[in-house]
Parts: sequence; structure tokens; C-alpha cells
Amino acid sequence: MSWGNGSKNSGLDPWKVLGISEDSDIASIKRAYRRLVRTCHPDLFPHDPVRSRRFFQITEAYKKISSLLLVNASVLEPDNEDDYDAVSFSMSGDGYSFLYIEVSMEDAFWGKRVSVALQGPEAKCPSCDGLGYKWHGERPLCPVCGGKGYKEYALKNAPIRIMCKTCSATGFSNQIKCRLCMGRGYIKREREVFIRLPRGIMPGTTLRIDTIDGLDINSTFIEVGIRLPDGWKFEGYDIVSKLRLDLWDALLGAKINIMTIDGPYLLRIPPGTNYGQVFIIEERGWIKRDGTRGDHKIEIELALPKTPPPPHVRAMLKRLREIWPVEAVEGRSGFMIEALPLPDSSMFLSQV
Ligand SMILES: [Zn+2]
Ligand SMILES: [Zn+2]
Repeated sequence: MSWGNGSKNSGLDPWKVLGISEDSDIASIKRAYRRLVRTCHPDLFPHDPVRSRRFFQITEAYKKISSLLLVNASVLEPDNEDDYDAVSFSMSGDGYSFLYIEVSMEDAFWGKRVSVALQGPEAKCPSCDGLGYKWHGERPLCPVCGGKGYKEYALKNAPIRIMCKTCSATGFSNQIKCRLCMGRGYIKREREVFIRLPRGIMPGTTLRIDTIDGLDINSTFIEVGIRLPDGWKFEGYDIVSKLRLDLWDALLGAKINIMTIDGPYLLRIPPGTNYGQVFIIEERGWIKRDGTRGDHKIEIELALPKTPPPPHVRAMLKRLREIWPVEAVEGRSGFMIEALPLPDSSMFLSQV
């Protein structure tokens, strides 16, 4: 899908579409564009063809105006975190590219400036001067196409041209494919830009960066993945991890240091803790936009001893079973734990 050339909206006055005057500066153009896009973005209003058409018109107009301004290649620096509206928008076409980056849990939680390699504009390959092929020494005319690079056929009076395979359409034989551009004749330069991940970004969030290269405006959609410690997962803003207890700790209770985002937490396991039980440490989960926190949930698993009990222990266990006949339980139950006060905000600041 693309909204490229031949769009039926191309006759619209881009300035009118964005509702701005022709002498607006780039900042007000950006502002107008963002404001309007929020009223009709397909992510916000799915299955709404009217708004969808409007979205395309606005985007077209923005691209057109940007190209008229002939701004030198520069990253449109987002002015505030608001610019990182999460969008998950899958569409490919001219001027769009998609990237996936993965960041550590700490960086995602605290927010961080990260560098991203964006695809720059296409440029003529400097190694082959845009031909895609090179010659060592002699450069004889292609005997098959006579130097035209194509063969022409007349098909029902309509001439069709077929690329000459012998000379790879260069018109000369003995060609060697250019190793730099792999025969394409152009290369895409990578450009490093810095983006700021907002604190508490969620996995799967897609950030958008607009870059202007001469006449083109390019949007890069960057999907952010988060590397969690082994066995951790997200449940909304809650973090879920598992804790495997041995038989004695489960039966007799224990104090066990578990890991949370904020560091180690001493979890008190009461006697008779069972498989599948969930301990909830409040406000130790992921951080929300308003600064409050989700919970950290700890799911209990049980591990029996690795080796079978030796004969004398087995005899004691049999005796125990007579003293304490137990019934297996099913289902889950939860324990709520009120976490210790959060570290004060200076700790937050020191990590940013
Ligand atoms: Zn080349
Ligand atoms: Zn040829």
C-alpha cells in the first residue's frame, strides 16, 4: 500500500489541508501536522474510512510542504516526550522504513538516550558511479544487444523492451558486479541519530522519527523490545517472575531474597506455601505514565529433591506420613505484600 504519485488528493492545497499560512515556519508546520494527525490516525480510529482518508491527505500535504521548504538533511528533533506517541502502524512504502531495537530493562524503565542507525537517502554508488557494474580493463560493446542494454520486440504493434542479460543492461560485456552496491547502482547510507526513550516505555511501543532529506520526508518507525531477566514477563504494568522453593522451605517457611526492578527484596515465605501460590509485592512493577507503579507478582513453583531419599530417610518419611496425613490441594491463592517505601526520587534522578 502506498500513497505515492497519482493520489486523487494531489490537487488539494497542502497549506489549506494543514490549516496554516504559506509563511509558517517549520515548527508551526510540525505542530499543525501533529495536531491534525491525532484527530484521524488509523491507530486511534481504526475502521474509519473518512478519518483514514483525511489522514492520508494530511500526510500528503505535510510531505509536499516539507519538500517545498528544501530543508537540509536534519532530524526533526522532538521537542518533548509528547512526540513519542506510541503508534504501532504497519505500512510500507516510499519514505517509510521500520526498525526494531532491543534495550535493557533498566534503560526502558529509567528512560535513556539511545543511538539508532537510520537509513539515509539513496545515493549513487561511488564505486561504480551508479552503473552497478565495473570493468577490469577492456570494455567491449555487448555483442547481443549491440550496446543498447536491452532487446526490443514488437508485440501486437506495441514494442516491449527486455533487459539484456548478457551485459546486465549495461551495454558492455565483461562486466563484474559492483561489490559495494551489489549491482543496484545506488547505496543507502546509514545515519546515526539519538532518540530519547521515555521512562517506562512498554515493550512493543513504536516510536516514529521523521527525517528530511532534500525533497523527501522519511518516517522511520522504531519498535522497541525490552530484554527482561530470565523467567520474567510483563502482565500489563505488572512484572511476573517465578520462584522455585524446595520442599523444606515450602513446608517450614523461609526468607528468600528475590530480585525486583528496584533491587533485591526479602520475601517472607510462610510455612505451608504451596505450588501455584502468588505473592504480590505492591508497587514494585513497571512504571506508568502517571508515575505510579504496577506490582511484582511472584509465582511459586516447587522442586522435590533431586535424588530419591536413602532408606533410613524413607523410613522416617513413612513415619511422618502416619503422624501427618496430608491432602493435596488444588487451585491458587494470593498473598498481598505491601512493599517497603519506594526509594526516594533522588535515586531516580541519579539513574537518568
Ligand atoms: Zn556500485
Ligand atoms: Zn547486452
